[in-house]
Amino acid sequence: MDTILNVDTNKLMDDLIRLIRIPSVSARNQNLEECAKEVAQIMKEIGIDSELIYFDEVDKNAAAAPPIVYGEVKSKSNPNGKTILFYNHYDVQPEDPLDLWDCNPFEGIVKGDKIFGRGASDDKGELITRLNAVEYFLKQTGDVPVNIKFLVEGEEEVGSNSISKFINKNKKKFKTDLVIWEFGYIDQRERPIISLGMKGLLYIEMTATGPSRDVHSSLAVLIENPAWRLVHALSTLVNEDGTILIEGWYNEVKKLTDEEITMIENESFDEESFKREYGINKFINNIDGKNIKKALVNEPTCNITGLISGYTGEGAKTIIPSKASVKIDFRLIPNMDPDLQFEKLKKHLEKNGFGDIQITRIHGEAAGRTDINNHYVKLIQESANTVFGESIISVSSAGTGPMYEFINLLKVPCISIGGTYVFSRIHSPNEYARIDLLEKTAKCMITIIDKISKIQSY
Ligand SMILES: [Zn+2]
Repeated sequence: MDTILNVDTNKLMDDLIRLIRIPSVSARNQNLEECAKEVAQIMKEIGIDSELIYFDEVDKNAAAAPPIVYGEVKSKSNPNGKTILFYNHYDVQPEDPLDLWDCNPFEGIVKGDKIFGRGASDDKGELITRLNAVEYFLKQTGDVPVNIKFLVEGEEEVGSNSISKFINKNKKKFKTDLVIWEFGYIDQRERPIISLGMKGLLYIEMTATGPSRDVHSSLAVLIENPAWRLVHALSTLVNEDGTILIEGWYNEVKKLTDEEITMIENESFDEESFKREYGINKFINNIDGKNIKKALVNEPTCNITGLISGYTGEGAKTIIPSKASVKIDFRLIPNMDPDLQFEKLKKHLEKNGFGDIQITRIHGEAAGRTDINNHYVKLIQESANTVFGESIISVSSAGTGPMYEFINLLKVPCISIGGTYVFSRIHSPNEYARIDLLEKTAKCMITIIDKISKIQSY
């Protein structure tokens, strides 16, 4: 294959709209099986063998989890060649607040060069580019030049809780040489960011309990207020510059190599357009330049994601609330273990006199990274450069996904590349995908498949 023929944009858009129209919101457990079936159906229409695998086949005791869509096409001409596994997800974030959308989030409206809808980019758009690339080969030649597998899950947006169990039980089925991750950003200068890692996450809830019901605040002279109790506990977790004060929090952190540091420093980051986009005039601690890039890749965080207590309605109401709770996400980096970090947090609270605060672990996953010198990295960058002109290698994304599970269980490199424009409002109202980037990403996937088919040995 010397030149890439045009991808079938109409088909790509039709398939994407089919998926956007199914509101597969995992946070509400809504329409998940229906969406899984539609993905499997699109695969079948393309010529990819597909099946749904239910989690109760994996673990009889597991809470009901949405099925995985597994797709596979074996290469007829190159059956002993390499295998690529595409990992994607068919679930989406909730659409609310609905009143901030300019259109129905589950319709797939095309305006100009954009298609709007929840999941247009994250991750239905990305999934469709992979399917479209496989379809390209099947239509052109009736074959694929390498073995292709798809693993499309339905609970990525709620933490991929079942994926490790699932992979563990199906290692043979998912055997592959390379995993292409579910997404990749395109920066403001139209360059794909090829990311080799994901941060980990520990998500917890803390609740302070006071009187058995809300009481008149004249009694604040006698009755301890759980909101203050929680605030005091929270203030022991971090200092004002964001450093986490929990004893031993950073003990297991793996140092960056000089090569990684150079790579991070060479990444681009447009400070001004970033500030403009988010309506801020400075970064935390006024960091700038290289420190911003290092923080995005390699800084653990303790972030309050929600805080609730007492009366928050209109006007005044004078009470002592009966409870106060907070949800916190801690981003983790290699080699922090979410279970161990959780134990450190519990100990910290006890040691500081806050043992009465109830703490629940909601979710945990470790950070995962592929070696920057892995031979597939170069091949993928060459493919990206063919289509996009230029690309950036990133040591790790600032976000979290179950990459650790794939790297650790399947023992293969995971590389993230895709077509999500950096400001395409994923997880926000008016999420969109740029149609030109969907096309380019499909072409990039075609090029990757083609280049891998030509590998003689690794
Ligand atoms: Zn997402």
